[in-house]
Amino acid sequence: LQDEDRGFDYFMFVRQWPGSFCSKHACPLVYNRGFHFTIHGLWPNYNDGTWPQFCNKDYDFDEDQIRDLLDELRSEWPTVYDSYEEFWDHEWSKHGTCALDVFPTEHSYFKNILKLHRRYDLAAALGQAGILPSTETVYRTKDVVNAIYNAYGVRPLVHCYDGELSEIWLCLDKKLRPFDCDASHERNDCQKVKIPPFGKTHHPEGQ
Ligand code: 5GP
Ligand code: 5GP
Repeated sequence: LQDEDRGFDYFMFVRQWPGSFCSKHACPLVYNRGFHFTIHGLWPNYNDGTWPQFCNKDYDFDEDQIRDLLDELRSEWPTVYDSYEEFWDHEWSKHGTCALDVFPTEHSYFKNILKLHRRYDLAAALGQAGILPSTETVYRTKDVVNAIYNAYGVRPLVHCYDGELSEIWLCLDKKLRPFDCDASHERNDCQKVKIPPFGKTHHPEGQ
């Protein structure tokens, strides 16, 4: 890890299943949308498994630059905690400032991530394979990977926490074309996952 920019090789496009966390915590900012993943971030990576971060400390996050995107960001990129702006600021500063050769402005970074999110609908891909949130069913991680493969032709990394699905990572090249992630870059190995339904209480009404 280094706080400098020597270019990068590809992106990790990371979405989270808020149901795992939000079935146990309040998540006041996450709309209950049924089975719907939310954005975590788009992270520049090196082929060796490391990554650059905090590449331009002078390019501060500025919410005014993304006014036109805020409605969609609140809906699609909420935090499971309590401050949208802190989460977006963190993602921009840590990862976005390392991607300036692909996205020269904060606005283009956020706008393109929203576009990618619409394009690669993870819940739709899992749903087509009969993989849906359930308090009971234990899914094989392999089947989750295959569901994404069948929908989009590439193998993602599936992350879990405490036996529950936490995130799905897609690998994208610098032209934003998906490719198979290198399974050796998997950071938390889970053979089986539950996909807990989103809690019924505490959450704002779905949009
Ligand atoms: P965790 O250890 O929870 O997977 O990751 C902690 C943080 O490290 C993430 O939120 C992300 O900012 C960063 N991180 C972890 N793995 C990767 C990776 O493969 N690529 C990049 N760019 N960042 C990562
Ligand atoms: P990595 O460092 O870039 O992505 O981002 C993880 C950081 O963002 C953590 O410090 C975490 O506290 C913060 N964060 C804020 N909201 C969320 C959220 O909804 N999900 C995750 N994974 N991290 C969040």
